[in-house]
Amino acid sequence: MKVLVLGGTTEATALAGLIAGDDRFDGILSLAGATRSPRQSPLSTRIGGFGGPTGLAAYLIDRQIDVLVDATHPFAAQMSVNATAAVAQSGTPLVVIERPPWEPVPGDRWTRVPDIQGAVKALGSARQSVFLTTGRKELAPFARAPQHAYLIRSVDPPAPENLPPDATVITARGPFNEAEEAALMKEHKITVLVSKNSGGEAAAPKLSAARTLHIPVVMIDRPNTGSGPTLSVNEAMDHLARRHAETALRGV
Ligand code: NAP
Repeated sequence: MKVLVLGGTTEATALAGLIAGDDRFDGILSLAGATRSPRQSPLSTRIGGFGGPTGLAAYLIDRQIDVLVDATHPFAAQMSVNATAAVAQSGTPLVVIERPPWEPVPGDRWTRVPDIQGAVKALGSARQSVFLTTGRKELAPFARAPQHAYLIRSVDPPAPENLPPDATVITARGPFNEAEEAALMKEHKITVLVSKNSGGEAAAPKLSAARTLHIPVVMIDRPNTGSGPTLSVNEAMDHLARRHAETALRGV
């Protein structure tokens, strides 16, 4: 059974590993090409956009893909919208994997905002020392709040023209543990953390470090992609196995 996995996440990496080790499936992993050195995958990997929903639909038809798995990041909204539109054109079944969002626990001091612009506003007018963990691509709105000092962490270096004037950049790929996160926040005298509500365990230690240090968090809510029900990696694998069995029974 031919499975195309739209990736770029821990979940996609995990699913790719499971599919690669299972000879019922012939898998292809698709990456946007957003990071310069993506993690190696045991699945055959294609890199780059498809050219919108129509391009993805054409790919699904040309390659005779049996199931499309959208395992993109909860904030990769465009790709998820494209996936839904593409399967409507091609008739390919779609499975969506999404990790649950984080929820605040006692001791957390979260301000929830709907988007990046809301996060900039929530920082206020008085100077703050901001730990910005929202990725390198959406920095320009923060450059319009130059009164703050920013510690920016991203996997690849951001474009210099998008940086706020008072910015310190760290390029690093997680996961980081709570002690490392706390040490970094103390070293840079961080007064507020800005995070997307990505969910998952890998990036959660920054939240527990902020809780321990009584540092407030500006938490950006997920965009609504209009995707239907979502599954975990194991549920998605079970779903693929059931589909494979049904196909085999029908003798297709
Ligand atoms: P996006 O805004 O939803 O997508 C922008 C365009 O990139 C899409 O229209 C598509 O181009 C292409 N694209 C995105 N994901 C792709 C994939 N897996 N395979 C092939 N093409 C893809 O996406 P984004 O927010 O820039 O994220 C890019 C990638 O990084 C995603 O794969 C995502 O899983 C990963 N990621 C994103 C974030 C985040 O915070 N946004 C965080 C961690 C990882 P075409 O229209 O030409 O097909």
